[in-house]
Amino acid sequence: MAFEGLADRLQSTIKKITGKGKVSEQDVKEMTREVRLALLEADVNFKVVKQLITKIKERAIGQEVMESLTPGQQVIKVVKEELTQLMGGEQSKIAVADRSPTVIMMVGLQGAGKTTTTGKLANHLRKKHNRNPLLVACDVYRPAAIKQLETLGTQLDMPVFSMGTEANPVDIAHQAIEHAKEEHRDYVIIDTAGRLHVDENLMDELQSIKNDVKPDEIFLVVDSMTGQDAVNVAESFNEQLDITGVVLTKLDGDTRGGAALSIKSVTDKPIKFAGMGEKLDQLEAFHPERMASRILGMGDVLSLIEKAQTNVDEKQAKELEEKMRTMSFTFDDFLEQMGQVKQMGPLDELMDMIPGAGKMKGLKNAQFDEKQLGQVEAIIQSMTKKERQEPSIINGSRRKRIAKGSGTSVAQVNRLLKQFNEMKKMMKQMTNMQKGKKGKGGFN
Ligand code: GDP
Repeated sequence: MAFEGLADRLQSTIKKITGKGKVSEQDVKEMTREVRLALLEADVNFKVVKQLITKIKERAIGQEVMESLTPGQQVIKVVKEELTQLMGGEQSKIAVADRSPTVIMMVGLQGAGKTTTTGKLANHLRKKHNRNPLLVACDVYRPAAIKQLETLGTQLDMPVFSMGTEANPVDIAHQAIEHAKEEHRDYVIIDTAGRLHVDENLMDELQSIKNDVKPDEIFLVVDSMTGQDAVNVAESFNEQLDITGVVLTKLDGDTRGGAALSIKSVTDKPIKFAGMGEKLDQLEAFHPERMASRILGMGDVLSLIEKAQTNVDEKQAKELEEKMRTMSFTFDDFLEQMGQVKQMGPLDELMDMIPGAGKMKGLKNAQFDEKQLGQVEAIIQSMTKKERQEPSIINGSRRKRIAKGSGTSVAQVNRLLKQFNEMKKMMKQMTNMQKGKKGKGGFN
C-alpha cells in the first residue's frame, strides 16, 4: 500500500501523544522531530517539511492545544489539519465550461500514465457526471500511442478522434473540438505527446496547442512512484504551461508519499485525481482530508470527536468515561447513550469512524438501523432493574420473558447481549488506548 512506511512511523509517533492529559513543549518538540524525520524519509520535499513542521509547532505549543481538555488529541488534530492543508485543503473539482465542450488537455512525461488516465477520466465523467466525452489522439510521434487510445475508446465504447501520425497536433486538437461540437460531445479530452524528459520542443508544442484550444483544464499526469522527480517535473510543466491540476498515478503501488505531500505546496496547483490501478475504473477524486486521515491511520475519529463535542455536555462525558474506566457501564447507561448517539447520525457511519471497531467481529456483523434501535430500546425496557445493572444474571428463562415482553425473539435478545459485551470490550480497549487522559472520551 502507498504511504505504508510513512503511515507506520507517523502512527507510532502520534500514539505516544494521543492519551496525554498534559502536553509539554518538550513533548511537542519530540513529536515534531519524529514527524519531520518520517516525512523526509518518505521523500517529501525538505522545504515543504520545514514549513509544515513550523506550523505544527506553532499551533501545538499555542493556546488552542495547551488549554484544551484533551491536549493529546488536539495535537493530533493539528497534525492532521496541517497535512490536509499541505495536500490542498478542500477537494478540488473538475471544471465545467460555460460553453460546450469543456476542453481538458492531458500532459505529462512518457510512462506516467497519461493515456490510461485519459481513458479513466472519460469513464469517470460519463459514469459519475453523466457526460459525453470525446477522446483525442494528439501524440503523433508514437503510432502505438494512438493505437492505445483507440483501444481504450473501444473498451469504453467511446469515440476517439485521430488524424494519424502525419497531421499537426495543433490542427488535430482544433478540428477535434469542431467535431465535438457537431457531435454534441460536452467534454473533449486531449491526449498529448510525452517525452522521457522535459524538453523544449515538447513544451513548445504543448504551448501551441494550449494557445489554440484554450483548454479549461490542463492536467499534468505524474507517476507518484518517482517521488521528488515527480515534483520537479510538476514544477517545470507548471512554469511553462500554467497547469490547472495534477493527477497522481500509481498510488496503489508502494510509493512513499513524497509526491502526494509536496506537489501542491511546490506548484500551488491542486491534486485533482489519484490513479489507484491499471483498470479504467481505478481513478479516484483526490480528497486531501481523507488522505491525511489514511496516512495517520485514524479512521475518521476526529469527525467523531467533533460530533461528540457538539452533542454531549462535559459533565455527562466525564461520568461516562468514569463508567467506562471502571467497567460499571450498564444497560441503563446504554439506553441513555443511545438517545445521545442517535442525535449524532447513522450508527454504522459512526462505527466506521472508530479505529479498530471495524476489526471487531461482533460489531462488524452488527447491522444497525433505526428500526433495530427501536427493538433494542424495547428489549432493554423489558428488563428488570436488576437485569439492566447486572446482565450476567440474564439466563434462558429471563431471555424468553424479555423477548416476549418486547415483542422480539430470543435470538434478538441474545444478539443484543452479545453486542453489549462486545461493546464493553471495545470500551475497555479504548480506555486503555487513552489511559491517563482526563476529560472527554472519544466514543460518546
Ligand atoms: P503514458 O506514456 O503517460 O501515456 O502512460 P500509459 O498510460 O501508457 O501508462 C504507462 C503504464 O502505467 C501502463 O502500464 C499503465 O497500465 C500503468 N498505469 C497507469 N496508471 C496507473 C495506476 O494508477 N496504477 C498502476 N498500477 N499502473 C498505472
